[in-house]
Amino acid sequence: MEASLLRLRRLLCIVMAMLRDGYNRLIKDVRISVTDRCNFRCTYCMPSDEYEWIDKKEILRFEEITRLAKIFVQLGVEKIRLTGGEPLVRRNLELLVAELARIPGLEDLCLTTNGSLLSEKIEGLEKAGLRRINVSIDTLNPEKFERITKRGDLDKVLEGLFAAKSCGLGPIKINAVIERGVNDDDILDLVEFSRENGFSMRFIEYMDVGNTNSWTSEKLVSKKEILEKIRARFPLREVGRENGSAPAVDYEFIDGRGEVGIVASVTEPFCATCNRARLTADGKLVTCLFSSVGHDLKALLRGGSTDQEISEFVAGIWKQRKDRYSAERLEALQSSTYDPKQRKKIEMITLGG
Ligand code: SAM
Ligand code: SF4
Ligand code: SF4
Repeated sequence: MEASLLRLRRLLCIVMAMLRDGYNRLIKDVRISVTDRCNFRCTYCMPSDEYEWIDKKEILRFEEITRLAKIFVQLGVEKIRLTGGEPLVRRNLELLVAELARIPGLEDLCLTTNGSLLSEKIEGLEKAGLRRINVSIDTLNPEKFERITKRGDLDKVLEGLFAAKSCGLGPIKINAVIERGVNDDDILDLVEFSRENGFSMRFIEYMDVGNTNSWTSEKLVSKKEILEKIRARFPLREVGRENGSAPAVDYEFIDGRGEVGIVASVTEPFCATCNRARLTADGKLVTCLFSSVGHDLKALLRGGSTDQEISEFVAGIWKQRKDRYSAERLEALQSSTYDPKQRKKIEMITLGG
């Protein structure tokens, strides 16, 4: 009896000591942007041909990223997603993957990519310890794909997608941002394709990320609308959010052939359970996808701070965190007072999707 009471008290101490933000949210997931460079110019993300790229010497080296990742894990992070920009344009990414895959306590290491370089790189990444990827594909129509990405080759991306499947990665998720009048007529083709080939589809509501994508609420296709379209052809039932806090609400097909997830940041915000932080390629810690500023960890890394000092700095920022941008946006949209330009945000390509 006494032993179990002791165990309970110890568990309680651990729970009490867990790092929580201003709304009691833990830090569980960090998205690390390994580069702000990208070989696509998706109209909904970074349509500008020219951009003020981060100076190469300001980009975190792999050993700096690994050091920060270990500190994050000690603070409670269980999942790291590598992203960008396009993460696969960063040379020798497999060396970083190998280091991160070895971190004790890190339960999940994954990557989001536009897939253009996947066929050449997937084998090395898999050998280094990558087990899971998300590939962004908004349409299966090659001309439309080129129009949306402004320079993408769909065949090359599909080659990469199937190469990842052959390497045994799984689950492989396909991300599609749905924009009205652009690819809302591609939803069923994408569902069919993913069901036939054993991929998992993720539809993402078009968001007003960054400052250059000319978002308007008219371009938004809501989760409700996406779901109705799918359900009319493929009956499904709701499964819920993975771990209760994932951005996507998952649904499984009644016939047992796969599942689909929908990320409804605009119409059904999930800020209340948001346990995600972001690290920009130049070492800024960002606490919300819609933040205007980041907190400089590179200055600490390169200024001689100890791990303990960096850890305390990160913990201090997280404790003060009160971000709930998408929830505020929905309130403003409902009262017709929302202006997407009211806040200058960090570009998605810089802070990592
Ligand atoms: N370049 C990689 C890619 O495209 O997968 C990784 C970075 S990208 C910024 C990460 C994810 O953000 C992609 O799945 C992309 O579709 C999504 N994304 C970009 N702009 C978006 C927007 N305006 N609304 C919703 N999702 C967006
Ligand atoms: Fe497209 Fe990803 Fe590049 Fe953004 S970062 S332009 S979503 S490929
Ligand atoms: Fe998290 Fe910010 Fe997105 Fe809300 S808007 S879910 S706080 S990243």
